[in-house]
Amino acid sequence: MQTHHTLASLRAQLRQWRRDGASIGFVPTMGNLHAGHYALVELARRHADKVVASIFVNPTQFGPNEDYARYPRTPESDINGLAENRCDALFLPPVEQMYPYGTIGCVQMHVPGITDILCGAHRPGHFNGVAQVVARLFNMVQPDLAVFGRKDYQQLQVIRYMAREMSFPVEIIPAPTLREADGLAMSSRNQYLQGDERQTATRIHQTLVFMRDAARQGLPLPGIEDQARERLEAAGFSVDYAEIRRADLSRPRSGEAGQVALIAARLGRTRLIDNLEFENV
Ligand code: AMP
Repeated sequence: MQTHHTLASLRAQLRQWRRDGASIGFVPTMGNLHAGHYALVELARRHADKVVASIFVNPTQFGPNEDYARYPRTPESDINGLAENRCDALFLPPVEQMYPYGTIGCVQMHVPGITDILCGAHRPGHFNGVAQVVARLFNMVQPDLAVFGRKDYQQLQVIRYMAREMSFPVEIIPAPTLREADGLAMSSRNQYLQGDERQTATRIHQTLVFMRDAARQGLPLPGIEDQARERLEAAGFSVDYAEIRRADLSRPRSGEAGQVALIAARLGRTRLIDNLEFENV
């Protein structure tokens, strides 16, 4: 696996692959890779001849009081893991490659509506930063397809909206959420959890299961959401939201069961998100 730190070097490799008629699959990440990320590489491999991953901790998607500085950076083990998982190339750019005019002088993206709700309401500017960096990465890699995890459900919707709206010729492929044996969704941020917090964190998935089952029974959604919030608060979480939405994240009408339960909650300094999609039975 070749690691590229500059766009020129990445493009030289991509040109050669394109000349050979290879299709390109892309997996953007922020690094500190775990089995969930490697499953994305595996999925990309099933759909494309060559797989490019990127590792870039994007400053424009972090708020001023968020964890940009302390976000875990483990490039050496990530490079080994990607090579072992048969990734063909890694793009690992410095900030200046991604933002040649700096993060103040850069062209902005604004995706209306969907970026303002749920996580967007609690992390102003976050999804516009995500859209901005993914648009740049799509221009740099020019992949045929890109794989995104369902774990970041709202992010996936933002990317789909942006790709369609901006006519990016990139097929967006969603990947299922990988979980630890006790249900906790794998995340680079899980390692922030201290002592008992790791055990408590399993309550998020348990609460999502409760929300799904109650919604399927036809119970009113506002009551389910209140109970979910109470359960999480009783376990020690500070809850940003616990909601049931339609697949497109609009609010279900009264009497509708919804299609996805979503939670964002903080345990100490760690903010965790997870979701559970469901069919109505
Ligand atoms: P991140 O490095 O956390 O920004 O994530 C990079 C990509 O990996 C995103 O598309 C995430 O949705 C995806 N991802 C992160 N955690 C998981 C997981 N537990 N299961 C599946 N995909 C994941």
